[in-house]
Amino acid sequence: MCVFISICSFSLEAQSLNETRDIKDAYTKNTRSRDGQPGVKYWQNTATYAISISADPPSRLIKGTETISYTNNSPDTLNKLVIKLILNQHKPGAARYGGSGMDYQTDGIVIDRFSIDGTDGLWDNTNNTTLVDVLLKKSVLPGAHINLEFDWHYDVSKQAGREGMIDSTTFYLGYFYPRVAVYDDYLGWDKTEFTGGQEFYNDFNQYSLKVSVPANYVVWATGVLKNPEQVLQSAIIKKLKIAATADSTISIANKEELLQHKVTLQAERNIWHFEASNVSDIALGLSDHYLWDASSAVVDNKTGRRAEMQAAYSDTAKAFRSIVHDGSYALNWYSHNFPGLPYPYPKMTAFEGNADMEFPMLVNDSSIDGPEGRRVTDHEIAHSWFPFYMGVNESRYAFMDEGWATTLELLIGRSFSDPKAVDKTYRQGRVSHWATDKLAVSQIPIITPSSELKDGYRHNAYGKPSLAYLALKDLLGDDVFKKSLHVYMDRWNGKHPIPWDFFYTFNNVTGKSLNWFWNNWFFSSNYIDLSISSVQKNANGYAVSIANIGGFAIPFDVYLEFADGSNQVIHQTPQIWFANEKKAGLAIKTNKKLKSLRIDGNLFMDSDLRNNSWTTNP
Ligand SMILES: [Zn+2]
Repeated sequence: MCVFISICSFSLEAQSLNETRDIKDAYTKNTRSRDGQPGVKYWQNTATYAISISADPPSRLIKGTETISYTNNSPDTLNKLVIKLILNQHKPGAARYGGSGMDYQTDGIVIDRFSIDGTDGLWDNTNNTTLVDVLLKKSVLPGAHINLEFDWHYDVSKQAGREGMIDSTTFYLGYFYPRVAVYDDYLGWDKTEFTGGQEFYNDFNQYSLKVSVPANYVVWATGVLKNPEQVLQSAIIKKLKIAATADSTISIANKEELLQHKVTLQAERNIWHFEASNVSDIALGLSDHYLWDASSAVVDNKTGRRAEMQAAYSDTAKAFRSIVHDGSYALNWYSHNFPGLPYPYPKMTAFEGNADMEFPMLVNDSSIDGPEGRRVTDHEIAHSWFPFYMGVNESRYAFMDEGWATTLELLIGRSFSDPKAVDKTYRQGRVSHWATDKLAVSQIPIITPSSELKDGYRHNAYGKPSLAYLALKDLLGDDVFKKSLHVYMDRWNGKHPIPWDFFYTFNNVTGKSLNWFWNNWFFSSNYIDLSISSVQKNANGYAVSIANIGGFAIPFDVYLEFADGSNQVIHQTPQIWFANEKKAGLAIKTNKKLKSLRIDGNLFMDSDLRNNSWTTNP
């Protein structure tokens, strides 16, 4: 018996992609190229940050001082700088994405001193914005540097969100330093106000971070600890060295060691010095009672390079007891499977907070028992590649990082757990809420700037683009998909890719225009609804006509049940929608009698299942 499905396809005239005027300008200026590569005139700005802060819990006061050496690599003369004070989002009058309790509110960042190239300037601390324009008396010419100095202080908020007070002697500090906003080739100054909803867009910078804390406080931060012998007791350093080549979890500091003051040196204060290069942000956690575990994972089979996986957590956080094991697995798996590029940093630390939020080399995770906790950790670690390795503009194109992290959490989950259960979790958490929603917010095109979204943000940042990437993987096959993805990542790591760089790179590497697919998934108001229009018996078997009512070019399976009791499942890739996105015909060659037929998109949840099956008339 032969069951054969054929589709008619013919080449369509290549579609073009909509480019808004800011994007068109980038191509005109040759900062980007329509073959997907950085243009011959691509540039990006950068800075060197030397930051020192001090904390003295349970006081919530954090004091900081920094010097920023900012380099203008653009062809433009900068008459002003835009400074981001992200923690001003805590100010009572600040614009906020959602509500906030009184314990979330603080006075924001207070600038105590500010200078430009050695000359002190005045700073107005009264406004509630997270963006401050600093007009320059002397412009920064193309290729020139400018030096800024800030002294500042702020109170850690009692209610922690992505950062804040975890308990009276445990703080998570994120977004805590004044920084220069991104100035780039298509936006100019990034003037996206931080409201607590959308995420970030940062330059790749060099950081030196010194954190002064009382004895017996441990600091975990982005970057490499440069002075372990000046802050840690020798037995702890020895255990860290063992963990750096160990496959199993090693307790670096347990409860007794912490209580007996056997972890840090016993000077009145210790200054922890971290350095990180070519990263887009730094963050840190500190505590006097968090347990500390570590291990490591091979992240590059070719060279044998290992990355450290560490965890810092309270004695009661049961889920964190296995997080070093699970995190090590993730570092290794992501490095060698999807995305399949070595973890780009020397270490990763999971710090117990309540944010479930990624930072370079750090994740701030709540303690969640069971598979859900592991899924969250996998998701946050996946962000190491998107957006930290790739430098995407999360505040404008969140699908360029959240969509990938959502896809990666699914793929890694299938590797160690029952794929059916993982798929079910994905459908429930990532798809069903918008797939079954008839309101307009579920049909906003993915390409819409994330900064303009509210209710549609979650749909457009996570589930929808994740399905688009999975549909693309199905369309191209794993080999071509991965090859194209790697070229995209190789071209744009450490830079600022925009969606068109991704689209055009895939067109370029595959050697064919996928614009029909990009238009279908990213620029449309499509949704998911397939319908069986008709099933006709003919001389060769059956002719099935399927209507794509919702419009998304999804892959799906055709489940055939024959009168003799036999069954067959046949997969259709999104290629079936290439010739005609609205309808497709299937020719089922068989000499058997078909009893029933059903189409099922699995992860691609159909919004109306009533028209997905057909049964022969008895
Ligand atoms: Zn995420």
